[in-house]
Amino acid sequence: MATPDTNVRYIKGIGETRAKALEKLDIHTLRDLIAYFPRRYEDRRTIYSIAELPVGETACCRAMIADTPTTQRISGGRTVVKVRAVDETGRLDITFFNQDYRARQLHKGESYVFCGKVEGNLLRRQMTNPILEREGENALTGRIVPIYPLTAGINQPLLQKAVRQGLDACRDILPDILPDEVRQAHSLCYSSYAYEHIHFPTDFETLQQAHRRLAFEELFVLTCALHLLRQRRTDVQGPQMSAIDLAPFFSALPFTLTDDQHKAIADAVGDMLAQRPMNRLCQGDVGSGKTMVAAACAFFAAQNGWQSALMAPTEVLARQHYKTLAPLFERLGLTCALLTGSTRAAERKKLLAALEAGEIHLLLGTHALLTEDVVYHKLGLVITDEQHRFGVTQRAALGQKGEHPHMLVLSATPIPRTLALIMYGDLDVSIIRQLPPGRKAVETFRVKEKLRSRLNGFIRKQVEEGHQVFIICPLVGEEDMLPDERKAVTAYTKKLQSDVFPDLRIAALHGKMKSKEKETIMAAFAAGETDILVSTTVVEVGVDVPNATLMVVENAEFFGLSQLHQLRGRVGRGSAQSYCVLISDTDNAETLERLNAFKSTNDGFEIAEQDLRLRGPGDFFGARQHGLPELKLADLQCDIRALDEAQTAAKELLKADPELTDPRHEGLSQRVHSLFVTTAEGLN
Ligand code: ADP
Ligand code: MG
Repeated sequence: MATPDTNVRYIKGIGETRAKALEKLDIHTLRDLIAYFPRRYEDRRTIYSIAELPVGETACCRAMIADTPTTQRISGGRTVVKVRAVDETGRLDITFFNQDYRARQLHKGESYVFCGKVEGNLLRRQMTNPILEREGENALTGRIVPIYPLTAGINQPLLQKAVRQGLDACRDILPDILPDEVRQAHSLCYSSYAYEHIHFPTDFETLQQAHRRLAFEELFVLTCALHLLRQRRTDVQGPQMSAIDLAPFFSALPFTLTDDQHKAIADAVGDMLAQRPMNRLCQGDVGSGKTMVAAACAFFAAQNGWQSALMAPTEVLARQHYKTLAPLFERLGLTCALLTGSTRAAERKKLLAALEAGEIHLLLGTHALLTEDVVYHKLGLVITDEQHRFGVTQRAALGQKGEHPHMLVLSATPIPRTLALIMYGDLDVSIIRQLPPGRKAVETFRVKEKLRSRLNGFIRKQVEEGHQVFIICPLVGEEDMLPDERKAVTAYTKKLQSDVFPDLRIAALHGKMKSKEKETIMAAFAAGETDILVSTTVVEVGVDVPNATLMVVENAEFFGLSQLHQLRGRVGRGSAQSYCVLISDTDNAETLERLNAFKSTNDGFEIAEQDLRLRGPGDFFGARQHGLPELKLADLQCDIRALDEAQTAAKELLKADPELTDPRHEGLSQRVHSLFVTTAEGLN
């Protein structure tokens, strides 16, 4: 007897090879198989006569094979099978490429339902490589058919049949993880019904019911997990710290902190004085001075005898933090060290020994801080910078290095409240809204293509004054060149170098490069060895090049507001006046509204709210940067209400059964825990 945990090889037609292919889709067991949801559906309920077949569309018709198929060999060892099918209204010419078995399968006089793209004209209808099945079979035609994302070695009919078998084997023995009262309170269907109809809906109404139930379940499980995580934190003890005087820290700084910086520091210090571990997000616009909040916390921890780790998403950023913090810590009589992937073995060994001996108070680095041989003497505080590039799991892995260290997360991505609830559901939040005084606002312009030569003159002027320039393109290389006018990094760099600025130092940077290569190019730019950096949005995060004064965004209409805001934040970090130039010839009213809104404010939160209003939350989640498990069905753009309901229901349930130990919640508990296996271990 099959169970949900039975391997997919149980399914007829799935052997070793296909099971391997399915693994690529993350399908291992029957449970995985039936939780592999269609990407879309094709309505194949209408069966046409040949004469009625709509040319140019995909459609089904019933027809009889009229003669014996012919097979031809063509160039490249390929085969073509041709066969004619008829009904009382006309004839259909069918061609199969590289499917020689069709010649043996199809016999004169037999009837089939064919489904494919209809080509030809009124007199002669044709199909190439249609799907087909015997009349009356109704698995692939005559119904709404699920269309799945595929991988090499797996085709639609194969997957459709496999899912059918998987459903038959375990649909009814799969526990319904939603408690009955929750299901009823929200008028949701049973799980067995939902699984059946999400794959093989009888009509679009049942599909909608199935979808609603499973999306709710997804949000419910996720919010349960987040609440449990938060709950857990209150149950354990964090590193014990007591109040110390921060005045020496403040007076070691070359400037006075803003009120918001002080407030964020007070929040964090308050957390570290409490029993439970801190888990705080410090959100502040680019340039708002979050690094100093981190530094104050590390100082506080050090005075209490605890070590801190600060993890940055790139080596350049880690280096940059080191450059700022090392001298500051030295003035304070504390030691700070840098550990990255390129730290040499001998140096690394020395550094690790010092770390274990407790001689290093603050360790800065990249993912390298997660490596197993990095052992701390007494890790009390873990800070991650620009956390949206890190997953929840990575944070948790670093957490494992200490007992239950305090966690501080720095992020420059302003997130509207509702979304923060899900993305950072287990975090407390401090917000820095003020920028340090004396900062000149970046001047923003929108220009049309016809001003290109004036813009080039402006770029040259900036460089001649000793400044540096970013140019952002929406695409990577020549191969991406589309018929439209979108600029690509590689091609545009070449053109600029050969035709426009032969005498300037220009470098290209994009996400398809190896990370080492990216680091080198970014470091050279930061060191002032390059005048112009042509890049995709990979420069979006964090790096501080105070000497860069001009940000040019090509095809600005292709970027979201929040993205543009991050890009603009790359300049205006020094004392010179900085500029952001958006190039766009668009006359789309909505896009113009977006770009004008961007021009009129420098406030990241205002821009985030605008972005949410104009484009919906999809964008915040689109790039999967939030570090939460991917949502398969729930679309937060449309399901904000469902999210609300799921959250309320989850909270209520956990109030009654805080650890999900009630046997009636066993299925739910398993799902919740499988979602956060690594994370939960890290915070346990
Ligand atoms: P972000 O929040 O983007 O990480 P940083 O911490 O990198 O910002 O700070 C940006 C710049 O502002 C740095 O050069 C930093 O030294 C400087 N800075 C931070 N706080 C203040 C302040 N209160 N007054 C003046 N300059 C400050
Ligand atoms: Mg920063």
